[in-house]
Amino acid sequence: MSQSFSSHSPLVLILLGPPGSGKGTQANLLKMALHLPHISTGDLLREHIKKKTPLGLKAKTDIEKGQLVSDHLILEMLVERLKEPDCVKGYILDGCPRTLFQAQSLQAYFKDQITPIVINLDLSDEKVIERLCHRLVCANCGALYHLLYSPPKIDGQCDQCLGKLIQRADDKEAVILERLKVYHHQTAPLIAFYSQQNRLFTLSCDLPKEEIYQTILEKIR
Ligand code: ADP
Repeated sequence: MSQSFSSHSPLVLILLGPPGSGKGTQANLLKMALHLPHISTGDLLREHIKKKTPLGLKAKTDIEKGQLVSDHLILEMLVERLKEPDCVKGYILDGCPRTLFQAQSLQAYFKDQITPIVINLDLSDEKVIERLCHRLVCANCGALYHLLYSPPKIDGQCDQCLGKLIQRADDKEAVILERLKVYHHQTAPLIAFYSQQNRLFTLSCDLPKEEIYQTILEKIR
């Protein structure tokens, strides 16, 4: 169902959470309900890697090791994207900010004109590992599958566009463990940062995606 919001200031939604907590899945559902663009810094970086841009070449090694890409590169890439006309009414940020520096820079960028709503998608490390180890993604349209819980109808083929399903290079177990470590050290402190500002809603993500989605919509209202 489509939602409408009367606020004149842009609606900015920040999705926080460990890898595999469902930020991308929820952003895809929310963008249709809210008519806002879904901006995933991970997707933007993967686009750069595909196109072999200078930024993509720099980011590739960090991503494949499970490390973060430098704040400077991320912020430059993000600000470029936020200047596009589809961002005027707001946007859904998935995977950014991911460090305290990114969060503070974003706050400075918003000045006092935007107060983001931050949704923290909480999931245990065990669940993260289980989800990501079995995750497949369509190389063509980006649709997500789980080999046990939401397998494709035909092995290795996307139900939606018939594209080839692949495992992301950073969804190998050793890299997942590194991403989790990085999450706990560098991103989890943002939970305290935003909760001190009374902007944070934490939801358990070990629930059906539709249920989580409905709860997020209630929080936004
Ligand atoms: P996930 O949330 O499942 O880890 P993403 O697609 O959001 O996956 O990110 C993939 C990788 O891209 C990260 O592990 C990191 O290397 C890089 N990345 C994405 N967003 C950022 C960011 N805001 N700051 C630094 N690195 C980032």
